[in-house]
Amino acid sequence: KKKKLIAGNWKMNGSLVANEALLQALLQGIGAPACDVAVCVPAPYLAQVQSLVDGTSIAVGAQDVSAQPQGAFTGEQSAAMLKDFGVRYVIVGHSERRQYHGETDELVAAKTAAALANGLTPIVCIGETLAQREAGQTEEVVKRQLAAVIHVNGHCISEIVVAYEPVWAIGTGKTAAPDQAQAVHALLRAQLHHAANEHAAGIRILYGGSMNASNAAELLAQPDIDGGLIGGASLKAPDFLQIIAAAR
Ligand code: 13P
Repeated sequence: KKKKLIAGNWKMNGSLVANEALLQALLQGIGAPACDVAVCVPAPYLAQVQSLVDGTSIAVGAQDVSAQPQGAFTGEQSAAMLKDFGVRYVIVGHSERRQYHGETDELVAAKTAAALANGLTPIVCIGETLAQREAGQTEEVVKRQLAAVIHVNGHCISEIVVAYEPVWAIGTGKTAAPDQAQAVHALLRAQLHHAANEHAAGIRILYGGSMNASNAAELLAQPDIDGGLIGGASLKAPDFLQIIAAAR
């Protein structure tokens, strides 16, 4: 049985003072978690957060990475730079990046490859919009998005984490019903198996979208839900700790 992964996505929230308070509360309450735990923090705080969680059960993640190795790319951070700061995970292709920054499947695949080449674990986000779900396109959309990263040139895809985040469930309080999420996760699992990678069974598929302290246990009990990517509820220590405790 795979260890689940509970990853917080702080998005563009936090401050030096707030981060320290949140992490101290998490470290005080976390005990010995049955799952892997990460916090994906804004780039300016990577060094602060790394120093606060170093040697603990909380790993550090970033929220984006450049597809380029170095050079004249103003405002970007390379995978090697993230690695330099002790970063373990990086979110790639979050729907907010796809929506507000025009990230395509092709760019998401290139970022995934850059992360893998530098020893980071990409958390690749996929998910349909409300319009796509209502048009009956959910399966087609998530399969296309996953296919783009499965075929990343030559890299062993066993090192990726997939996050299914239906766009209509993000920040809306409208969580996918556990069976609804499980149905999509099962499709993705089958697609990973068909990719004929002998390691596909070990790939974790997280659910994200309004996961919180009260619905986490039921979602995490689904056979193909291997963890969660948590936005709003990861900013509140008691809530995030309850989600971690539900992941066994
Ligand atoms: P919420 O948990 O705030 O809905 O955000 C989900 C998400 O986008 C995590 O990446």
